Amino acid sequence: MIAMLLLSFLVSGGIAYYDHYEQNERYNVLRFERKEKSIRASMDYFLEQSGGFIPPDSVGIEMNAKLYELSDVHNLFIAIYDLKGDYITSSKTERLDSLRLSHRVNYTILKQLSSGSDRAVIDQSHTLEDYTVAYWYFKDIIGKPIAITCVAYDRSDTESKDVWSFIAELGQSYVLLFLLASIAAYTVSSYISRPIQIIAERLKDIELGKRNEPISWKGRNEIGKLVDEYNRMLSELERSAATLARQERESAWREMARQVAHEIKNPLTPMKLRLQHLERSWKDNPEHFDQKLERFCASMTEQIDTLTRIADEFSHFAKMPRALVARIDLPALAAGVVESFGTESSVTITLRTYLINQPVVLADRDQMVRVFNNLLANAIQAIQPGSVGCVDISIRQCKTYLVVRVQDNGVGIPEHYRPRLFVPNFTTKSTGTGLGLAMVKNIIELSGGHVWFKSREGRGASFYFSLPTAS
Ligand code: ADP
Repeated sequence: MIAMLLLSFLVSGGIAYYDHYEQNERYNVLRFERKEKSIRASMDYFLEQSGGFIPPDSVGIEMNAKLYELSDVHNLFIAIYDLKGDYITSSKTERLDSLRLSHRVNYTILKQLSSGSDRAVIDQSHTLEDYTVAYWYFKDIIGKPIAITCVAYDRSDTESKDVWSFIAELGQSYVLLFLLASIAAYTVSSYISRPIQIIAERLKDIELGKRNEPISWKGRNEIGKLVDEYNRMLSELERSAATLARQERESAWREMARQVAHEIKNPLTPMKLRLQHLERSWKDNPEHFDQKLERFCASMTEQIDTLTRIADEFSHFAKMPRALVARIDLPALAAGVVESFGTESSVTITLRTYLINQPVVLADRDQMVRVFNNLLANAIQAIQPGSVGCVDISIRQCKTYLVVRVQDNGVGIPEHYRPRLFVPNFTTKSTGTGLGLAMVKNIIELSGGHVWFKSREGRGASFYFSLPTAS
């Protein structure tokens, strides 16, 4: 809109300038002709008053005063030449030179006048000299030429209406128009872009699994259609997200149920076998039954313990998302866990810290204990029986993170196990649940950190996790 206004201002300014110029030209030509007529009439009247005749050789003397008068009144240069074209007198001699008029009338002019033309004109208005000169015969009462009168019309004398003031006025009204157009453009563009902005913002804020507000828009124009389309897409998205979440939940529960069944079935088989064996022993050899019962009870207790542990681990795993976030001094917490392990483990566990200040992390205390428990248990279990086990825990403060490393000198992790290590249910141990590392990964990632590991087969493994420090 503004560009179009600017263009129209330039075009109308240009047309106005050209039109003014043309009008000025016409006006000045007519003005000159009017002045010329008036001079002629005044000279004729003067001649009439002087008796109607002036001898050609005394025209200069007779007319001199009149010439001055007329020249002053009309502000024009007037000169008189004799009939042969020679200069006699003029209102201002010096103007003759400044107008570069010759002391003799041009031959063509003389010819034109002698052939009966009432008026002969030299028009220099479009050259550098910029003047117009008109010649005519000054005739006596009976119409006999006495002399040649010449009137020069200098362009510097022209009246010109100032085109620039007109353009300035035009410019003022255009400034007003520019302002109005800017306001209109802003209003229109914000009317169009506001709903689009709202849609863009809402699109940015869309979160699956959360209630997303539809946009209400009354207009039934293109924007209305766009908003309708957005709302339709939103409800479709919410429906699909809900379906997906339900499916995911169902499949997670199915998987969990499958795992629980699998883990419980594992100890049940040996338990059943032992029970059948005990029954047979009771029937076949009741004398040594006491001893067998004792062994059976010990084995049953062990298996029941395993089942309890499995149940515990599953319940821990299920409880995980409900975290009680608090400010935790992680090195102190790690020291506590190490202490509890130290009393019951034959492996040497060391804890080293590299801290800048006293960093705290935002996490659930129980979950953090479980993270250390799992990593330490795994590390201890990885130590080969008979070898000197060393587990080294280091906590390092790196900018806004705490990086914890649990390093052991155990069997290490074979290459082909590595991609599945954090997958729930993956275990290489006969009594393992395969949930420890999956749980560690979940806890750490929910607390805003990362888990990773490095290992050289046969040389041990290092498990790392990082947690952001709280200010
Ligand atoms: P679980 O300990 O019940 O097997 P985890 O999820 O804790 O379940 O561990 C999964 C598997 O990762 C383990 O069975 C073991 O093979 C491997 N693993 C974990 N930690 C270590 C370690 N420090 N060194 C060697 N292997 C490990």
